[in-house]
Amino acid sequence: MSQSPASPTLSVGSVAAKPYVALTAMSRDIYALRSAVGLLSWDQETMMPPAGGEGRARSMAALSRVIHQRYCDARLRDLLDACDAEPELSAEQKSVARELRRDRDKAVKIPESLAAEIAETTSLSQRVWAEARPKNDTKAFNPWLAKVISLRRQEAECLGYAETPYDALLDNYEPGARTGSMRKLLRDLKAELVPMLGRILEAQGKSGASLDGKAFLVPAQKAFNARILVEMGFNMAAGRLDESAHPFTEGLYAGDVRLTTRYSETDLMSALFSTLHEGGHGIYEQGFLPEFAGTPMAEAVSLGIHESQSRLWENQVGRSKDFWSFYYPDLQRTFPSSLAAVNLDAFLKSVNRVRPSLIRVEADEVTYNLHIVLRFELETALFAGELEAAGLESAWNDGMRSNLGVTPDAPARGYMQDVHWSCGLLGYFPTYTLGNLRAAQLFDAAHRDMPGLSADIRAGKFASLKDWLGRKVHRQGRCLDGDALMLAATGSKTSAGPFLAYLKGKYAQLYG
Ligand code: ZN
Repeated sequence: MSQSPASPTLSVGSVAAKPYVALTAMSRDIYALRSAVGLLSWDQETMMPPAGGEGRARSMAALSRVIHQRYCDARLRDLLDACDAEPELSAEQKSVARELRRDRDKAVKIPESLAAEIAETTSLSQRVWAEARPKNDTKAFNPWLAKVISLRRQEAECLGYAETPYDALLDNYEPGARTGSMRKLLRDLKAELVPMLGRILEAQGKSGASLDGKAFLVPAQKAFNARILVEMGFNMAAGRLDESAHPFTEGLYAGDVRLTTRYSETDLMSALFSTLHEGGHGIYEQGFLPEFAGTPMAEAVSLGIHESQSRLWENQVGRSKDFWSFYYPDLQRTFPSSLAAVNLDAFLKSVNRVRPSLIRVEADEVTYNLHIVLRFELETALFAGELEAAGLESAWNDGMRSNLGVTPDAPARGYMQDVHWSCGLLGYFPTYTLGNLRAAQLFDAAHRDMPGLSADIRAGKFASLKDWLGRKVHRQGRCLDGDALMLAATGSKTSAGPFLAYLKGKYAQLYG
């Protein structure tokens, strides 16, 4: 790639443009390439034939190298310097320049050889994990895990950190987050959740879930989910809903947001709640300001804010009495033989049932964060060298017993259950809990700002909520970091208080 000397005014097309215009042209180019990687990755999960993996990995690696080169291009640095000297940029334009600089700084700090080694090793390690997991082959997986952790340590040293190397990993997913404050937040949360879990389990008794053993035809599920997705405000002219083994959202542009879900005839809730969840992610991705397309202002603040949007729709809205007061009669009409004898209260108890379990992605709202607490404790210990990969299985099983009172019967349902560690996503798990806490906090603030919100939801009207989230979160792009955004939107930084109050209120209502 050619590197031109400093040039504060570049020519874009035939027009001599000011540095900001040239900067956004470079940015749009980078985001267009990233969007192409996103489409390849979406296709890999939804459409690609099984034998396509090797060719796809090559295409994605080649594009990733080009993107890295664009970030490292000296012209980008020069334009960023020139924009810093521009007095007339708006607050949003300054955010574009600041966040592009942040992304560039991270890219140039990682030597290309290390970036390539990380990409190759994590890709191979993920394949090893996928083969080893069903066989519970810990001997095959552990050496790869150790290698991935060692590479991430090298990466943290290149990136630099505020207090401890793990900060560098956290900062990749939640800019500005620190290990120390995350540890305190999670420990305080655990101290509240463990006794609350005991009280709820006692109140819930031994009654089984009222949906167990019932059947729900998939075509009818698909029609019902598509309807809810549109009514919550997802624009189907600017998005799609497909199927994949693990539901996810891929935002290529605000005008092209891909969601997936998965269907099971014996589990109505799996597709329904994953559609609401991914719909929340998707509405965020569709809600960026169009004039900033192809810049960091048309991008999520962090994973913890992204997850707050999905969890808010899935849980605060989707598991509420208000929501089902409107939709349950239609759901009963859609599945008369399975639901006619299940009244609304029994249905609500079923979708909010608390059941300590081995698998994080199947966890209820109360136990979910206890899974995250364990992963955080273990991965910080692994990263600090206080725990070896070979000792992880027993440390995991001890943690599950003390946090949740359950013991994995096999590593596949224990420390090998999630893909994250195999592909090097260390520092990622805490953002799930941040999302849960922020969802409750934002929903609380929305209710304060809009006293009629419950009545709207009971009437199947979601425009006021979507508009509020649009103003407070979506259209903000990356103007603020996660905590600053929470402060601006709700009046306080991220806190566990509203989430705990929400759980107490919900379970008091369900069980008296
Ligand atoms: Zn999510």
